[in-house]
Amino acid sequence: MKPGFEAVIGLEIHVQLLTQSKMFCGCRNVYGADPNTHTCPVCLGLPGALPVLNQEAVRMALKLGLALEARIQPKSVFYRKQYFYPDLPKGYQITQGPVAVVEDGHLSITGDPEVRGSAAGLSIRIERAHLEEDAGKSNHELSDKATYVDLNRAGVPLLEIVGGPDLRSANEAYGYLKALHRLVVFLGICDGNMEEGSFRCDANVSVRRTGDASFGTRVEVKNLNSFRNVKLAIEHETARHIALLEKGEAFTQETRGWDADLGETKPQRSKEAAMDYRFFPEPDLPALTITKEEIEAVRSIMPELPEQRRERLVGEYGLTDYEAGMLLQSRAFADFFEAVAKASNGKQAANWMLGEVSRTLNETGKTIETLGLDAGRLAELIQLVEAKTLNLNTAKEVVFPALLKGEGTPRQVVDQQGLAQVSDRGAIEALVREVIRTHPGQLAQLQAGNEKLKGFFVGQVMKAGKGKVNPQLVNEILEATFAQ
Ligand code: ADP
Ligand code: MG
Ligand code: ZN
Repeated sequence: MKPGFEAVIGLEIHVQLLTQSKMFCGCRNVYGADPNTHTCPVCLGLPGALPVLNQEAVRMALKLGLALEARIQPKSVFYRKQYFYPDLPKGYQITQGPVAVVEDGHLSITGDPEVRGSAAGLSIRIERAHLEEDAGKSNHELSDKATYVDLNRAGVPLLEIVGGPDLRSANEAYGYLKALHRLVVFLGICDGNMEEGSFRCDANVSVRRTGDASFGTRVEVKNLNSFRNVKLAIEHETARHIALLEKGEAFTQETRGWDADLGETKPQRSKEAAMDYRFFPEPDLPALTITKEEIEAVRSIMPELPEQRRERLVGEYGLTDYEAGMLLQSRAFADFFEAVAKASNGKQAANWMLGEVSRTLNETGKTIETLGLDAGRLAELIQLVEAKTLNLNTAKEVVFPALLKGEGTPRQVVDQQGLAQVSDRGAIEALVREVIRTHPGQLAQLQAGNEKLKGFFVGQVMKAGKGKVNPQLVNEILEATFAQ
């Protein structure tokens, strides 16, 4: 950030809820079905059709509210937000009015040391999270003569989460987005798929001079469909604001779209031309009332939250904060780690998960669920290494790939391929003698004081032992031999 300026950012996030059916009708809530195969009179807005609120969506909203330590409003009312668009067959969107089911929560993130002076923890306010329905989807690409409309998404339940203007850099916005994403996925209320649009983000950005009490004019940036684009767009937008402020140019509050190809934002519509949505309470739905009993019922089924789990992983398995954070990249990944750790050793399990397993996931583009690796087998592999039956290199280079190919248990692979580590002192001593005998030149150099050749001899002995000899013993025996 340029000295003398401060960015102010607030994110609005739309989360598609993982309910079985849509928000106000019984149509299935699925992504990727044939166009217009999941529609009915209610989500098509046919005359006389009546909406019925999906209670599962309400429970999901309560889950988020509890996780954000927010106030759950005992009574909130649905409104009609009216506008015309081809993918909105009813002519209005049902959303919540001035009172949202979830209000005044907060989410903890790490501060950006570049703008805060330290990486201390911050509490970012969540102004509200309200329930609403999604619109359908317009496809402009299928034809250059027409726009096609798919109404499968019309009426899909959304939770709009409005964050306070508390973020001060693109990095902080990124951290907040990651934390919220992880939270909704851990809660099991959203699949978090940004490419498919189940987790969408709009960024409100303004810049003011350091020390100013009031905020600068804000711009709302849309069309941010990845974590990376959110960060890039905010960086671009703050720089643009600073340049305008330095030139003394006035600018108006407006909505802009991020163009990922050009790496810049472009005007979409300005607030002066903003539509009058003619908000009014939805006459076909009763107010949403939440009782204490309903809140307690949800509280009793709350899963362990990412932050709580991070602390537990650190304490229970002796991990660093960083390792625990990396293991929490998804609930399934953390579950897998814990299954391995419980059956072997926490620290080694973490090393494998963040080493070989992560590397394989990156290379294959798979997830821990689709990798086809069995936690029990990875634990057995770790135990074979711990018991010195197998050396670590052979475990990584031969046995682990064999496990991925489904070639049996680690023990079977070791037995079939004769990989068991040689820890027989006599056998290793014989190898050492042979290697020394065949490398007199290197031995002379070593004896003349070239210590680097120790590594050479270790390598030669390992090679002579076909990688199966116990490396600690090799070191020990070589040291003893050279010391003579
Ligand atoms: P609207 O309904 O027009 O989108 P809101 O008051 O609900 O307006 O604000 C929406 C978002 O804008 C919130 O996430 C809030 O944190 C953010 N916001 C409000 N003022 C500013 C500002 N000056 N700079 C950056 N973000 C802001
Ligand atoms: Mg808005
Ligand atoms: Zn329907």
